[in-house]
Amino acid sequence: MSKPEFWPIPNAQNRRIPRSPAAGSFWEDRRDRRHAGVDLYAGQGEPVLAAEAGLVLEVSRFTGPDLIPYWNVTWSVLLEHADGSVSRYAEMADTCVTPGQRVQAGQQIGHVGEVLNLSLIDSSSPLYIQRLKTTGCPAMLHFERYSSRPCPSRHYLGGNFFAGERPANLQDPTPYFGALEDPEA
Ligand SMILES: [Zn+2]
Repeated sequence: MSKPEFWPIPNAQNRRIPRSPAAGSFWEDRRDRRHAGVDLYAGQGEPVLAAEAGLVLEVSRFTGPDLIPYWNVTWSVLLEHADGSVSRYAEMADTCVTPGQRVQAGQQIGHVGEVLNLSLIDSSSPLYIQRLKTTGCPAMLHFERYSSRPCPSRHYLGGNFFAGERPANLQDPTPYFGALEDPEA
């Protein structure tokens, strides 16, 4: 059974997972899309650690202005764990791991990125994006959990599933981090 040993952002202001209906919660309803994971808001450049040991399956570009103008370039790492489950660490500014590499729990895999280019968000942007501009939260770690390797989907883009289609192996990451959360923060 897959179990995290480390909070992925050791320097985060708090150790809380957003709960529905808060921004960044799992399966958040974003009108034309649903949020595939949870967002852990943190300062840009903060180190990101592997919460659990795993094998690096994939390193890929996750967002960029060629896809959506208000996106900065960020990176995604897929880690496969001993029980076959997979975690996605995304919206990172950079990554320091490569496919095929084994990482230990607590090993640094990258830095928190600033996914949103605030100067390019306007009234034509999706409402949930406009709200993130208002609250001043352009940087975060986007985290997803799958019970097995995720399949490529044409409905998936930048951490959201469009058309409301939820893959059978997509899991809510909230209970995964439950024991490491700090309820006082
Ligand atoms: Zn997200």
